[in-house]
Amino acid sequence: MKKIIIMVGPPGSGKGTQAKKIALKYHYQHLSTGDMLRSLATASNLTDVERQAIEQMKLGNLVSDMLIYNLVFERIEKALLKGEGVVLDGVPRTVDQARTLQGFFEEKKIASEIVVLEVAITDEESFARLSTRKVCNQCGEIVPGVNVAEVCVKCGGKLVVRADDNEDIVRKRIEKQGNSALMPIREFYNQLGLMVSVNGLQQIAEVEADIDLILKK
Ligand code: AMP
Repeated sequence: MKKIIIMVGPPGSGKGTQAKKIALKYHYQHLSTGDMLRSLATASNLTDVERQAIEQMKLGNLVSDMLIYNLVFERIEKALLKGEGVVLDGVPRTVDQARTLQGFFEEKKIASEIVVLEVAITDEESFARLSTRKVCNQCGEIVPGVNVAEVCVKCGGKLVVRADDNEDIVRKRIEKQGNSALMPIREFYNQLGLMVSVNGLQQIAEVEADIDLILKK
């Protein structure tokens, strides 16, 4: 199985859910840039760059590439040195990030270890999912639907609406991270022959089964 799994897909496609499953099942490190940024947001002593990034995230905008590279490159390197695989969830979000990431893997001579998994959904589905889901404030579990309970069944944490899941911000996120923003990233990875797509409109278990078939090839 390839050591570097790159998940791409519009917000709400389920790429985070699937990334967690892959990490658990195959003992890979789950590197979610969104989770890293949300945990950064709770830290004290932020630098100006970090503070600005958190503001941009709250507005539904992308944060600076440099911050993303600082967050992920070292973690990727450490995991690979330990012989662990990585599942990247949330990066790349632009073709520049895709190119830089590719350059990094080529320099480390591990570009042959990459597979890019697209979890494909429409922008309409993305909007419907993001504007109705809740998230556990302790374990990050995502619970779909409007009338969900207040308490997470996994850890007892509180289910809350994520700050950037409000309707106006969701629209902005889809504009910046939805299917049109993904087009050049898809093209980039297609040209390298690395891209495989699964239908993210299916049930979670069906998406998982499709991904397993791809990963075990
Ligand atoms: P996510 O949890 O993956 O939906 O990410 C939450 C937010 O973090 C995004 O809406 C962006 O503001 C920011 N973010 C996450 N990953 C990236 C990235 N690779 N480049 C720029 N911004 C990012």
